[in-house]
Amino acid sequence: MIYKRSSELFTAAQRVIPGGVNSPVRAFKAVGGDPIFVKEAKGAYLYDEDGNRLIDYINSWGPMILGHAHPPVVNAVIDKAKKGTSFGMPTEIETQIAELAVSMVPNIDKIRFVNSGTEACMSAVRLARGFTKKDKIIKFAGCYHGHSDSFLIQAGSGAVTFGSPNSPGVTEGTAKDTLLARYNDLEHVKSIIKSNKGEIACIIIEPVAGNMGCIPPVKGFLEGLRSLCDAHSILLIFDEVMTGFRLAKGGVQELLGVDADIVTFGKVIGGGLPVGAFAAREEIMNYLAPLGPVYQAGTLSGNPLAMAAGLAMLKELNNNVTIFDSINKKTEYLHQGITKVLEDKKVVHTINRIGSMISVHFSENPVVDFESAAEANNETFKKFFHGMLDHGIYIAPSAFETWFITEALSYDDLDETIKAISITAESL
Ligand SMILES: *Cc1c(COP(=O)(O)O)cnc(C)c1O
Repeated sequence: MIYKRSSELFTAAQRVIPGGVNSPVRAFKAVGGDPIFVKEAKGAYLYDEDGNRLIDYINSWGPMILGHAHPPVVNAVIDKAKKGTSFGMPTEIETQIAELAVSMVPNIDKIRFVNSGTEACMSAVRLARGFTKKDKIIKFAGCYHGHSDSFLIQAGSGAVTFGSPNSPGVTEGTAKDTLLARYNDLEHVKSIIKSNKGEIACIIIEPVAGNMGCIPPVKGFLEGLRSLCDAHSILLIFDEVMTGFRLAKGGVQELLGVDADIVTFGKVIGGGLPVGAFAAREEIMNYLAPLGPVYQAGTLSGNPLAMAAGLAMLKELNNNVTIFDSINKKTEYLHQGITKVLEDKKVVHTINRIGSMISVHFSENPVVDFESAAEANNETFKKFFHGMLDHGIYIAPSAFETWFITEALSYDDLDETIKAISITAESL
């Protein structure tokens, strides 16, 4: 496939936008080459500026769980746009989406909408600190909670892809309040709590990690965190920005039956528009301004277009819960197909999957935490990525990302993908 016009557009973009992109994960820095510029997308396919059709396994990094330009979502946005795009005043639709979200997700009474997953996680931690009157937080190496200062300590996703898990610009003062634990290592968390007794406000975690590839929690890990939090008056924050409304209607809390104190959302909840949200039981949420002392605000929060897209998306998922089964089956089919062709071609690999999250690591060892994810062979990944792209399959340009499966994929698309992997594997 030829990507000439994309390269020209990238050259122009680099003159006026740092690195030519508005979010680093879009660059191809880790895999080499120029990023592809999209013209439009429909269902499971992207159409780029050179006229290529690509099968999309990023899907805007998660939101397009029902495919691109999904008609109910698009129509809801068009209808709303005609009536004005922002008021900075309350609207009924904010209550409608809040009621629906609260009914779908366990353990939440109230929810506040913001504009991104970053904002949701940043606000959730502030709320946890205000509520517990403690300062320190525990996060896990390789987990990504957006780009606010407290989280850029051994962060996953783009932060690790570009070699800046600890970003310059984050002050020592901020960094010292973020305590770092190993994912899936309960003993490590225990020892951190022991040496910071009475100082920890919250533990924030991706309950299924998706920003160092896909790493499910080992049995007992989340349950163990729950007990530790209860024993030490620490709030447990599930960052469900990626997993929420994807792994189940009620996210990981429902899927794995572990309760969180605060939950954050993004991606799917906005149906492809900029939306994040955080939610908790009433006693915690009432700590927020204007009811309580913890301040949090936003000019465009609860924006009518964003709420219309989100509401249409959540309705679709709530009214057709078989979607989750269907998308899980497609992912399982892909999983089996990839396993078979990589085994046939004797390519060393490990595949992690839970529900519709899947990642392929070119490593022979189990991938259970950041260290084991980082051990995988990046040179093999680069060749794999470009091989796939040559066959019109678009996966994330980094080995530290999950594949985002969309319900819009047909079994023919999956077969085409598996065939592309088979051909690509010959030269790995
Ligand atoms: C994407 C993501 C974020 C950040 O969301 P943005 O909307 O990009 O700010 C936070 N947490 C997790 C788990 C994510 O996957």
